[in-house]
Amino acid sequence: MKKVIVTGGAGFIGSALIRYLVGNKLAEVVNLDKLTYAGNLSSLKEISDSPLYHFAQLDICDYEGVKRLFSEFQPDTIMHLAAESHVDRSIDDPLCFVRTNVLGTTTLLQCALEYWRGLEGERKAAFRFQHISTDEVYGSLGPEGFFYETTPYDPKSPYSASKASSDHFVRAWGHTFGLPVLLSNCSNNYGPYHFPEKLIPLVTLNALDGKNLPIYGKGDNIRDWLYVDDHAKALWLINNKGIPGETYNIGGHNERTNLAVVQTICRILDELRPKSQGRYEEQIVFVTDRPGHDQRYAISADKLRDSLGWKPEENFDTGIRKTIQWYLDNEWWWRPIREKKYSGERLGKEVK
Ligand code: NAD
Repeated sequence: MKKVIVTGGAGFIGSALIRYLVGNKLAEVVNLDKLTYAGNLSSLKEISDSPLYHFAQLDICDYEGVKRLFSEFQPDTIMHLAAESHVDRSIDDPLCFVRTNVLGTTTLLQCALEYWRGLEGERKAAFRFQHISTDEVYGSLGPEGFFYETTPYDPKSPYSASKASSDHFVRAWGHTFGLPVLLSNCSNNYGPYHFPEKLIPLVTLNALDGKNLPIYGKGDNIRDWLYVDDHAKALWLINNKGIPGETYNIGGHNERTNLAVVQTICRILDELRPKSQGRYEEQIVFVTDRPGHDQRYAISADKLRDSLGWKPEENFDTGIRKTIQWYLDNEWWWRPIREKKYSGERLGKEVK
């Protein structure tokens, strides 16, 4: 059984990945996470007693600490998800994004390289450094076309610029030092355990709390939505079957305008948790747009489908219903976060 370091395993996607790996007894995992505001160990409750799960509270910028973890755990691979991940927060505090996403990733690369150089034979050949990134590195699309693995980088926000930079460093460690690296760039994820600052959980919980449902600009920005458990499976497939040095795009082929997403959430809530009076859509308000808001993202996952046989199991209609039902059933998870960490206020508005 593979021994895996997952960085950022207390976050949204990292926790889905660990629940998948440990819950299905696919791997022994150490979760390397600093536990920033975005990290929640409660997302791992269902697997945290498993002998296949371990936790190390560490900053990925801590070279000595990470080095020690590699040497003690002796992993077969590292799956790197730890990051500052919220575009709006990158407008408020860009340097924090540079520190974690750029310096943190290069620190991990260097620790992995030194560890990998000490391996021999089969173990050395099989080791992988897997970097998880975003389609936002490709910039913004007009009404037509898709992002491919060959699309030139054109990041627009401090978040996407920091992720683009980290991608380049990962490729550089592969090219210059021979470290076997794998990269993937994926579209917007959604699903259970999503931190309530992101669009889908924010709108769902604000709706239930009777608050305004803010839509940036006209709500015509388009995102391609990927169910988080489909993403976790894709990542494990790439880890096991991907070719070192290659990049794989992961997307759900589920393009929706932000307004359509919010209206869908409102309609499902009208059905599952009707209000005593009126409809949830009446809570929608249009607010000033996010500065530099990218218009459209759409990803082609053809390479991953054709070369490794991956396809998503959920479409947006099935995935969004499951997600909303999960939030209705799991107030124990999100209520403390809303009360103690983030209660739904606007982030990332001030630029001038
Ligand atoms: P998240 O914000 O939910 O979780 C990030 C995790 O990283 C948290 O547990 C946090 O505590 C940890 N972390 C942050 N800084 C750290 C540091 N310095 N050292 C150690 N741990 C640290 O993020 P997510 O949505 O799960 O995203 C995971 C990865 O996937 C990120 O690299 C992100 O760029 C990428 N991604 C996310 C999406 C999406 O839709 N969520 C889409 C494309 C790519």
